[in-house]
Amino acid sequence: MSSAPSSRRPPDHLPLGAQQTVSGEEASASHTAAVGRARSFLIVGAGLYGAVCARELADAGHRVQVLEKRDHIGGNCFTRYHPEAGCHQHVYGAHIFHTNSPEIWAYVNRFTAFNSYIHRLHATNAGRVYSFPINLFTLHQVFGVTTPAEAEARLVRERLPIPDAANLEDWCLSQVGRELYELFIRGYTAKQWHKDPRELPASIIKRLPVRTTYDDRYYSDRFQGIPVGGYTAMLEHMLAGIHVELGVDFLADRDAWLRKFDHVIYSGPVDAFFDYSAGLLEYRSLRFEHEMLDVHDAQGIAVMNYTAADVPFTRKLEHKHFDLNLRCPKTLLTTEYPQDWQRGMTEYYPVNTDANQEVFARYEALKQETRLPVTFGGRLGEYRYYDMHQVIAAALATVSRIHQH
Ligand code: UDP
Repeated sequence: MSSAPSSRRPPDHLPLGAQQTVSGEEASASHTAAVGRARSFLIVGAGLYGAVCARELADAGHRVQVLEKRDHIGGNCFTRYHPEAGCHQHVYGAHIFHTNSPEIWAYVNRFTAFNSYIHRLHATNAGRVYSFPINLFTLHQVFGVTTPAEAEARLVRERLPIPDAANLEDWCLSQVGRELYELFIRGYTAKQWHKDPRELPASIIKRLPVRTTYDDRYYSDRFQGIPVGGYTAMLEHMLAGIHVELGVDFLADRDAWLRKFDHVIYSGPVDAFFDYSAGLLEYRSLRFEHEMLDVHDAQGIAVMNYTAADVPFTRKLEHKHFDLNLRCPKTLLTTEYPQDWQRGMTEYYPVNTDANQEVFARYEALKQETRLPVTFGGRLGEYRYYDMHQVIAAALATVSRIHQH
């Protein structure tokens, strides 16, 4: 999807076009006064982290320029309208916005309206379809229980007594027992991470709720939705009036760019920034296969998880359901295959193992030693499995830290 980046050199001086022309009265004198002196910032990466940092710094009166290696903004949130399917395509996989924070919800609503999509998915295994994440209806389908009390009693019987259940498998066995683990978790997790679930931390799965009510929402958060008009339009609004250059690889001329700006906010892979000198961080990547089908509705839901180990993919996405628009007579169905990541491929998930955390710690030490005027952030810069609302909170925190110094 992304075009080969050029290694365009940084300009010898900041072009006037890079001067912030924040629309209307936003770049007010009071903003500038609030931060003391205006400084120049280069933001590397036009994903959500970079866009929020850029918006906030520009609104505070700083001079901001954004560089993006790909040929589009939006990072992995990027969506584009697919005319034949009559809906927005989530090009790098399903993105559903959710947060419990009224502040974050108000923040994103400044840039887009959200539809009323609430994420509900189903899981399929050996030809049967189940409600998922595990809730009372799932427990009814698997064990025949019908009330919260019966469900709780059944889970108590299912749970295996494993003290200090730190790895993903032990934690699942201690929470839901062997049958549910085998049905929903083991195969999917092994495919997704290409590791034995005993080598993975339980934190990966703690994202998923286990409920003894019939609440089958994937996320329990108060605020949910998908931007009307797609994520790309939301990011465009965030970046309005900000100088963004696409197709430029910052790392090809890192030192020259560093000299041109007071501060760099870098949201690319932290190991790439340091020329992999402290080792290569591991990621998981994804491969997507798209089918345009001549049917109105292929699977009846936005996401179907395939949890069996012998099915090579993890999920199928039917994009029109995200837009809550089923009018189009055709449909776009995407099958998601996890794949091993190699340098040059799109990074999707940091792999949170002890070995990777050790490599990351070495980069943390390098950051301290080099004392460069660089802030590392976002999923790749911090090597963290962030959701979108967490990335926004992290970006807002970054800017507020910058303002305090
Ligand atoms: N998971 C699983 N079965 C499923 C869905 C998720 O075992 O049907 C596990 C898997 O290990 C996955 C983790 O839960 O990596 C987190 O799932 P989530 O849907 O939050 O992942 P994402 O949407 O970020 O890929």
